Parts: sequence; structure tokens; C-alpha cells
Amino acid sequence: MTDTRYVIPPPPQAAIAIADSDRLFPVRRIWCVGRNYVEHIREMGQDERAPPFFFAKPADAIVGDGGTVPYPPLTKDMHHEVELVVALKSGGRNIPVARANDCIWGYAVGIDLTRRDLQIASRELKRPWEIGKAFDHSAPCGPLRPASEIGHPTRGRITLKVNGAIRQDGDLSQMIWNVPETIAKLSEMVALAPGDVIMTGTPSGVAATVAGDRIECEIEGVGRLAVTIGPPLP
Ligand code: MN
Repeated sequence: MTDTRYVIPPPPQAAIAIADSDRLFPVRRIWCVGRNYVEHIREMGQDERAPPFFFAKPADAIVGDGGTVPYPPLTKDMHHEVELVVALKSGGRNIPVARANDCIWGYAVGIDLTRRDLQIASRELKRPWEIGKAFDHSAPCGPLRPASEIGHPTRGRITLKVNGAIRQDGDLSQMIWNVPETIAKLSEMVALAPGDVIMTGTPSGVAATVAGDRIECEIEGVGRLAVTIGPPLP
């Protein structure tokens, strides 16, 4: 029953599907790591010695496997960034690296969709990145597989194809900061909590995607994701 103190109906709970199941992972918020693969830092012309940093997307930016992403407004340069997605079952502050894996429920493959032209314009004006990164439908995510089943992947091919052609092709072992280090560092900045999701950065090969594209992603040992880019909303 709905709590009658709410002055409008509470928004629906954002969620990620669980592989081979009708169960769901409820999403609290989405944190993303910037610059976590050297080849991607090089292609973006950034300093590869600088530490990675974090930005966020709203929980309801999740789009499930088989979904359609309407081509977003205001951009002429939406890019795909395929990433390992980590879903947390517990959290806390100042989590030690050695205990960080204990916080993980499971893993999926996702895409950090980016309005690159708007992100770069914000960066140059020293303004926040939300308009480039945190737009509607900007976080497609495949079904989660539990760590209890697949363990904690530290290597494995990560690929993204557009209309059957390989665009991104890396390996999880190329991450500058691995997953436990990422969780530990983020937990120094904010208290992590169950339902938090982390997108862990993209390998090189980011490029523009347009309406009509079919995007297929895979991480060896983790799973797959396919989405279609649709026409802009009216
Ligand atoms: Mn990214």
C-alpha cells in the first residue's frame, strides 16, 4: 500500500534484470568511472597519469537488454562506451580494497552513452558533465549475473559491435584501477549502499552511433547486451 504522506505517487523503482530469472536488482544510483583504460585516455587526448575520477547517472537511465534508446536531443555526436557494470549488495564508507569484493552482488555489461559534443563543451567551460552524460536512457545494461555464480572477473574480452562491425575490443585486465580499488576509492568520497551500481570505464574505440544502429556488447564470462538506437522522440 502506498504511503499516503506522499503528495504525488512515488516514482517507479529503477531495476536491472537478473540473467535466467524473472527477479530484479533495484538500482539506487549509478556511479561511473572516467578514464580507466590507457588506450581510451590516449584517444581522448587526456593525461594518462592523472587518476580516474567519478561522475553519476540517474538510476532511471537504465535501459534493458533488447531495448531501444531514442536518439537524444541537443547532440550531433552520441558515443558508445562499453563497460563492465558492478552491482552492490552492501556498502559503507572507507571500504578496504581487500574487503571490496564482499560488497558485490553481481556483474553485467553496460553502455555509458555520452553526448560527446556536449560533454566536451562542458569540460571546456569547466561546467559539470551531467548534460553530456546523465541524459534519459543513457545507461543500457544487460542482465546481471551473480558473483556467487561467475566469481569476480579480472580478465576477459570486452567488445562492442555496431551493425555487426567491431568498434571496441579490449580486456578487463587493461583497467588502470581494478574493481576493488574503484569501490575502495569511491567509498572514500561517498557512503556506498545496497543498490548502488558502478560503470567501470571503457576501453578504446568509442565512436558515434546514429538512429537505426544495432549495438551488441559482450564481456567474456559476464554476459551480453543488445540495444537499438531509435529515432528522436517527437
Ligand atoms: Mn564511460
